[in-house]
Parts: sequence; C-alpha cells; structure tokens
Amino acid sequence: MMKMSRMRALVALVVIGLTIGSFVFRLGFGSYSSFGFGGLMYACPVGILESMLSTKIPTWSGVFCFAIVVVITLIAGKAFCSWICPTPWVRRIFGVRDSKNDDARLGSKCASCSCDQLEGERKVAHRAACSKDPLPAVGGKRDGRLIDGRHGVLAGTLLSSFVLGFPVFCLACPIGLTFASVLAIGYAFSQHVFMWDLIVFPAVLVVELVIFGSWCFKVCPVSAMLSLLSSRKRIVRPRVGEDACLRTQGVDCRVCVDICPEKVDPHSLDIPECTQCGACVDACPMRAILLVPSAKR
Ligand code: SF4
Ligand code: SF4
Repeated sequence: MMKMSRMRALVALVVIGLTIGSFVFRLGFGSYSSFGFGGLMYACPVGILESMLSTKIPTWSGVFCFAIVVVITLIAGKAFCSWICPTPWVRRIFGVRDSKNDDARLGSKCASCSCDQLEGERKVAHRAACSKDPLPAVGGKRDGRLIDGRHGVLAGTLLSSFVLGFPVFCLACPIGLTFASVLAIGYAFSQHVFMWDLIVFPAVLVVELVIFGSWCFKVCPVSAMLSLLSSRKRIVRPRVGEDACLRTQGVDCRVCVDICPEKVDPHSLDIPECTQCGACVDACPMRAILLVPSAKR
C-alpha cells in the first residue's frame, strides 16, 4: 500500500497544480485561500470571518463556505493542515523538519535482555518474545484541548479586521504567500518581468517559516480555529490496534509518539491537534495504526 507521506505529497501537488492552473488557464478552481468550484468551496475559515468582519456584512456565500469548513473539520479534524496547506512542504524545501524525530525507530537495545544485535523484523519479534506485561500509553505533550498563543493571534486577527476594515492576516498568511511566490516566479520566467513581489513574498515566507520556525504551533490562526472545531468524536482519526501494538506486549515502543509532528499520542482519544498526517501509520513497526473513517471511538 502507498505510504501516507507519498499520498500527502500527491494531494499537495494536485492542489498546488490546480490552484496555479486556475490562475494561468482561468479554470475557476479557487484562489490563494480557497479550493472548489463556484459557491462550493473549502475556503480559509479565518479569511472568511475576516472579510465578513471587515465589511461588517455577513454574506450567504461566506456563511456557506464557513459551514463547509466546519463540517469537514468535524469529520476529519485538522486534516487541512497536513493534506492541503502548503506550509509543511515549504518548510521541508528549506530544510526545516516537522518532527525532530523523523528517523524515529524502535530503540537499539532490548529493555529485557539488553541485546542490541537484532535488526528489522527479527528485532521486533525478539522484543515481543522477551517482554510480557502491557505498558500504558506514553501520552503526547500536546494531547487534549489546547488554548495557546495561536488563539490569541486568532482573536487579534478578527478584532483588527473589524476595527481596521480589511483582512489583516491575509497580508502575512503563508498559504497565500506560497501561491503568490510560485506565481511571481512563473511570471518572471515566462514574461521575463522581474517585480518586487518576486523578492518580498519569498522573503516574508522565509522569515515566517524558517527563521521563526514554530509558526504552526505558536502563531497560525488557521490552526487555532481548526483545533477549536476538531472534535474527539470525529470519524477520521488514527486508531491503534491494541492487539498488534508492541506496548500491549510489554515492549516500550515510542515510535508513533516520537515521530508525531504535532507531539500527540495516537493512543489517546482526545487529540484535537492531530492533523491526520499519517506519519505514525508509516512509522509503526507493527503496522498497528490505521487512518480510516470509522464510527467507532
Ligand atoms: S502503535 Fe506502533 S509505533 Fe505506536 S507504540 Fe504501538 S507498536 Fe509502537
Ligand atoms: S497522531 Fe499520527 S496522524 Fe496524527 S498528527 Fe501525529 S503522526 Fe500525524
């Protein structure tokens, strides 16, 4: 089966391709901050609220697009952050890793007999045979409902849009800046015209996502809003097959927690910050984690 990371890369390529194609060939498929056709759009929820607050006039199309975001987030949580948002890919292009433990592997030494000779599946089988009593879940640093700096930025963004009369955050949004940068580069190469935006847009992106590396965790108001809407009862979430998990067999495996870019534990029920990225699915040595829609908790 195709790895989740490859699936995400494919989806990102399709979204970026459709968005750029929409501008170049006038396909009508969304804008810098919305994807879809006509009134049926997944639009940036912060951008929708900002524009309605700045004009002080709620529109039916704005309310409808916001409702689409709410429904999708209730079903799939913060999936937008890892499957659609280009920010993780921009960070990767600049060499910034989402997880400090991208190479998380089952520890080299066996806790039971201290051997460190075995590799691959033999190591997994050996650890399982050596250990007996089940271990409790590790727990992630960002499990549970969080209210942090992102929510302050969200409140400030909405308030300033209302007071100043224009969507303030859109000026600095890395999603819009990414598409604007790609278009500026394409325009420069195709038309041989070099404008100031060719330097300014990528420069702001680098400052936000590379120099100030914790944008998604500490600043992003879109992440803040989606985390508020993300429900523990959502249908799509990682589910750990307890029978297959090494912890059930007493092996102190922490691979899924260590690899998680959101610092949550897929064993926990309440992980609104999970973006359904599938990194834990790919990394689990026992293939014990599934990311499939299910009504089961
Ligand atoms: S779900 Fe997989 S990666 Fe996570 S603790 Fe269990 S065996 Fe290890
Ligand atoms: S729990 Fe798994 S799917 Fe969710 S954010 Fe962490 S690694 Fe990605």
